[in-house]
Amino acid sequence: MRSPQGKFLSHLAIALATALPVAASLATTAPAHADAAVNKVVVIGLDGVMYKKVQEAEAPNLLKLAAEGTLGQTSIAPHITISGPSWSTVLTGVWDTKHGIKNNNVTTAPFAKYPTVFTQVEKADPGLRTVSIVTWPTIGIIAGAGDPHADVNVRSPQQPNDPTGAKIDAVTADSSAAAIANEGPDFLFTHLDQVDGAGHSHGGASTEYLAAVRSVDTQVGKIVAAVDARAKAYPNERWNILVTTDHGHRPLGGHGGQSADETANFLIARGPAFKAGVTNSSNSLVDITPTALDLLGVPPSPDFDGTSVVNAPNLGSAG
Ligand SMILES: [Zn+2]
Repeated sequence: MRSPQGKFLSHLAIALATALPVAASLATTAPAHADAAVNKVVVIGLDGVMYKKVQEAEAPNLLKLAAEGTLGQTSIAPHITISGPSWSTVLTGVWDTKHGIKNNNVTTAPFAKYPTVFTQVEKADPGLRTVSIVTWPTIGIIAGAGDPHADVNVRSPQQPNDPTGAKIDAVTADSSAAAIANEGPDFLFTHLDQVDGAGHSHGGASTEYLAAVRSVDTQVGKIVAAVDARAKAYPNERWNILVTTDHGHRPLGGHGGQSADETANFLIARGPAFKAGVTNSSNSLVDITPTALDLLGVPPSPDFDGTSVVNAPNLGSAG
């Protein structure tokens, strides 16, 4: 069964066995290791993170992911640099000008016209497992919008004595790592919030902001370790990680405007679908949903403003 033809025939046998119950006896001839490769997608959303501060903080896990994958750095102007509009864009693949969400008063209504990645994946194949585990509870509204919506929609509980938000982020990261290890979801979105808190309290130029970047980087490391362990244990699963942010922060803190610090965005894409060491300055948060659907074999929506970054060309040094 090692010739190309033999491989084709064994796949044909599996396809027939799947399509036609009467042909089920053919499946017994297929070798056990012929499990088809399946793509898995983990999106890590980091609130209020500027990539230049990831570099300044020398955050090891994020820098390693970027080095192992494709890195985009760009401005998202004139998109509104607020969490509600931006996470809605991450999870729909369309800009604020389409979904119409202008602030953090997020309702489910816009997702009837511009369905979330969860709805699009579940509609295409209800058998795919979609999970949202987040620190910022508003994202639970997005993940729960539409029919069908995310299979699992978890908002981490507030933690006692957690002034920086580091504890609740640790709960979110631990829950995400456990979900990856235990159930191998096809699409998982997770969101960590502590860097935005440091930005608001101390400013984007502060040492506290850098410390928060290092702290959230540790949580990213836990999720990546879970992905890598799962990929090793299940060789037919091809795990891809996407990391992005919703907005940056002004030096003295705050966002919502159009300064370079506020509109700065990045997208890290690391996994079997992405080349290492590629930089592409056109990749951003709006490309997350188109990329996830591409990887999961779901046709793109004609409404998309973003595009899949699978096979994104190397455009040279970014930002
Ligand atoms: Zn904020």
